[in-house]
Amino acid sequence: MVDVHGVHKTFGPLEVLRGVDLKVREGEVTVILGPSGSGKSTLLRTINHLEKVDRGWISVDGELIGYRRSGNKLHELKEKEVAKQRTNIGFVFQNFHLFPHLTVLENLVEAPVAALRRPRRQAEETARRLLARVGLADKADVYPRRLSGGQQQRVAIARALALEPKVLLFDEPTSALDPELVGEVLDVIKDLAGTGTTMIVVTHEIGFAREVADSVVFMDGGVVVEQGPPADVLDNPRQERTRAFLSKVL
Ligand code: ADP
Ligand code: MG
Repeated sequence: MVDVHGVHKTFGPLEVLRGVDLKVREGEVTVILGPSGSGKSTLLRTINHLEKVDRGWISVDGELIGYRRSGNKLHELKEKEVAKQRTNIGFVFQNFHLFPHLTVLENLVEAPVAALRRPRRQAEETARRLLARVGLADKADVYPRRLSGGQQQRVAIARALALEPKVLLFDEPTSALDPELVGEVLDVIKDLAGTGTTMIVVTHEIGFAREVADSVVFMDGGVVVEQGPPADVLDNPRQERTRAFLSKVL
């Protein structure tokens, strides 16, 4: 479903991604671990073309992201075409990023109507079903500021799902939450994993990785150091760098 191939990304003199390869199969949950500054967020952002890669390529469901191939040349897609591709790639941020001036329901209805041209009635029906799924059926008409962080993040997840994405990307979805609110958000993500949603989750929640991930990726210094089933990477890491990191967070 997601294929990251030899991706390099530099910011000025700083080489943040130094040849990242990553494959995520349909229906699988991949958890990415790694120290701060290792390039995890940048990698997620390249997958939906919020950052342009300097070298390498990324495809989602067989479609090249940000470019079109003609013959052996690559042409960059127009912003409108990129926006279309992004509707296939849900993104959940650390800080929720809900629209503060829209109610919860409107937050979920906006993109399907504007980007996918769904009839509003249909988009609202879907939105209510998704809110029920994340346990917030009674919050449809509330503004985001009236919700706890955990509730806001559950709305953000429902909003991402409203576009029926082929893959969902989470960038430290629980890092901004008070500890007592982490569980309710992880439970929603767990529930999605059970329904076969393809997901890439950047998180420091090792317990979650152990329980939910099909594959765990350890990144450091802009490369994938190690990847495998949680039992291998978390309990029996082959690389010294992985061991050193885990000994600090476990
Ligand atoms: P992580 O998510 O693993 O903590 P990031 O991908 O956010 O790592 O960042 C990797 C490195 O790239 C950091 O050193 C960060 O400061 C730098 N970086 C990220 N985005 C930018 C940017 N837009 N401009 C310059 N430097 C950036
Ligand atoms: Mg980050």
